[in-house]
Amino acid sequence: MVDQSYPRVEINLQYLKENVEQIVKRCGEYGINIAGVIKGTTGLPECAKQFADAGCKMIASSRLEQIEDSQNFGIDLPYLLLRVPMPSEVHEVVRLCDYSLNSEYSTMELLDAEAAKQGRKHKIIIMADLGDLREGYWDKDEMVEVAVKVENELKNVELAGVGTNLGCYGSIEATADKLDELVAIAERIEEKIGHELEIISGGGTTSLPRIFDGDMPKRINHLRVGEGIILARDLDIFYGYDLSFMHQDTYTLKAEVIEVKDKPSHPVGKISIDAFGHTPEYVDRGIRKRALLGIGKVDYGSIEEIFPKDEGIEVIGASSDHTILDIEDCKRDLKPGDIVAFGINYASMVYVTNCRNVQIVYV
Ligand SMILES: *Cc1c(COP(=O)(O)O)cnc(C)c1O
Repeated sequence: MVDQSYPRVEINLQYLKENVEQIVKRCGEYGINIAGVIKGTTGLPECAKQFADAGCKMIASSRLEQIEDSQNFGIDLPYLLLRVPMPSEVHEVVRLCDYSLNSEYSTMELLDAEAAKQGRKHKIIIMADLGDLREGYWDKDEMVEVAVKVENELKNVELAGVGTNLGCYGSIEATADKLDELVAIAERIEEKIGHELEIISGGGTTSLPRIFDGDMPKRINHLRVGEGIILARDLDIFYGYDLSFMHQDTYTLKAEVIEVKDKPSHPVGKISIDAFGHTPEYVDRGIRKRALLGIGKVDYGSIEEIFPKDEGIEVIGASSDHTILDIEDCKRDLKPGDIVAFGINYASMVYVTNCRNVQIVYV
């Protein structure tokens, strides 16, 4: 393995744990259990452990290898698969997960057969699509019918409950009305099966405003939260919630300066296309001092998703392995070997934690 210090992402595990505690406590006041979602941080088991230690009742991911890593790390909680299972992976789903979110009866039948084969219990949460238009039943009569079939006809899996997901594709807000719709579906199912469902899962981070505003429907008893715990940025930036009780700097990306020079701000010569096939707009601001970093789009995705901590530093461009900064107005006198720090968001977190070139350092 190449022994490199930079680029690196520093993860403050104590901050992460305190963030989990805050959300677990606030949701707990409404009778809501939290499934800690680890996919945003690429399932790093050290991070999953903070979710477990701070009171999450489940660990959840969309990816099986992340769930297996946490189990091998010794985190002893029920595991939930967030992404509707691929029929080809039901063997692994039953082997690794205690719960899965589902929207196809044919796959639930496969899970049932597999649970019988492995002699393992597996619990099913059926997803309702309430308008966000990703996974889940659009036809709610069909959904109720399928739930009753899982309860009565599938002998090896258990119907755990219902869930929904909002704000991922269709940008639909998790209003109290939307979540009331989910509760109404749950109650139709309960009436038909003659007992209460274990889980009514009201969404992810985008459902936390119902807790902050105090209008979460009473019967919602489960949320699956990742971003709102790990970074706690989106609800602040996009909805204006005061999240000052959360650490928003749990993750810090650091990269090393490899070149510092005064250069024109407008490319010189005939403009065609950049490394990724685009032609950006270049603003001519005359000769400016700029720095080059040994990190690029392959490491973090896009320059809009990283936020320099120094005042007076502007990220003006990047290619696969280089990032270009305008440092004309930076108070620090940067030179090769110096380190520049960035805050990150969900989009860049999924890249930097998933990139072999970026060292992961726990602080
Ligand atoms: C990713 C995901 C979540 C968690 O999303 P966050 O925004 O990180 O809280 C919850 N449910 C499902 C189905 C998901 O895919």
